[in-house]
Amino acid sequence: MSKSALIIGAGLGGLLCGQILVRKGLSVTLLEVDTEPGGILHGFTWEGVRCDRGFHSVGGLAPGEPLEKIFRPLGLMSLPWYKADPDEGLAFLRLNTRSDFELAHILGPFRQSTWRLEGGGDTLCQALAKGLDIRYRKKVTSIENQVVTCDDSSTFQADYVISDLHPLTTLELVKDHVRPAYMHRLRRQENGPDIFSVHCLLEPECVPWQSGAIFLDDSLMIHFDEPGTHILELMCFGEGNPEQMIARAAQRLPGLKVRKYHCQMNQGYGIMKNTNADFIAAATPLPWLFLTGQNLGLHGILGTSISALNTCKSINA
Ligand SMILES: Cc1cc2nc3c(=O)[nH]c(=O)nc-3n(C[C@H](O)[C@H](O)[C@H](O)COP(=O)(O)OP(=O)(O)OC[C@H]3O[C@@H](n4cnc5c(N)ncnc54)[C@H](O)[C@@H]3O)c2cc1C
Repeated sequence: MSKSALIIGAGLGGLLCGQILVRKGLSVTLLEVDTEPGGILHGFTWEGVRCDRGFHSVGGLAPGEPLEKIFRPLGLMSLPWYKADPDEGLAFLRLNTRSDFELAHILGPFRQSTWRLEGGGDTLCQALAKGLDIRYRKKVTSIENQVVTCDDSSTFQADYVISDLHPLTTLELVKDHVRPAYMHRLRRQENGPDIFSVHCLLEPECVPWQSGAIFLDDSLMIHFDEPGTHILELMCFGEGNPEQMIARAAQRLPGLKVRKYHCQMNQGYGIMKNTNADFIAAATPLPWLFLTGQNLGLHGILGTSISALNTCKSINA
């Protein structure tokens, strides 16, 4: 009889694990608190326009490059990817990367090649969700002895439980005994700062659309959406002042006129990775419980994809 896996969270990490394990012949169910797949990766609708949130560009998708090697067997290379200016990815990383360790491992693939996707993160989420058994509006509230309980009292049981949540959040849901030293290690991990995004709706024709992204001195990044949307996104680490961010962007883009803006804060890349940080493995002290997602190895779409592969390899099914 085929083994079964329950995946908590249908973010990029959970969806990738789902696709890989289904291909390995496991019976897989995903439990997702949201009403759509993708977590940080799916977009949102504002002013009638679908805007991206946790997806701008990816590195390393040309033949033989790291992300391509993961995406091709999953059929994701047939999506409408198109090449972007490598400076776009590098600019983003200068803003978002917090350690030499991350720079070395994430910057390389962006240098090799940088890509955008038609339809943005939503296109990737829909492709990743295809064919998977995802139960939406299921907030997991406890995990005990291979049984997962949700806030509507529904319960699910499987041979393996994989969590795409922050490792500490996951272990706080676990009711089984976990050795204190492991919990202590998780509590010691430092989280990286959140990313503050300001989506700006521009006055029609006020700025000629430019491709790519502009990086302003360590603290502000201007990202241009697709032509015709009149949406410009400004990003910084930690709580930002939207008016000041718009004023600084206007110095760089004379004639910039913002009609309305929309702010949001998102978990930016999870647990800090630097040479002082502990390595968090996919396996946990409980033989049936595994971790995945951006908090494990490297961050971002490439990092989360590598972690998903590692998680699935750790499950000896
Ligand atoms: C502003 C921003 C811009 C970014 N831009 C880029 C980029 O251009 N390129 C790049 O490579 N990376 C980018 N990233 C990073 C990338 O989006 C993330 O690293 C990746 O999407 C993380 O996926 P994940 O599965 O680890 O986490 P998440 O997306 O957080 O997935 C966790 C899932 O678990 C669900 N969940 C949470 N609690 C529960 C519960 N109790 N029960 C059930 N479900 C639950 C959540 O709803 C979510 O779906 C960006 C991130 C941010 C914030």
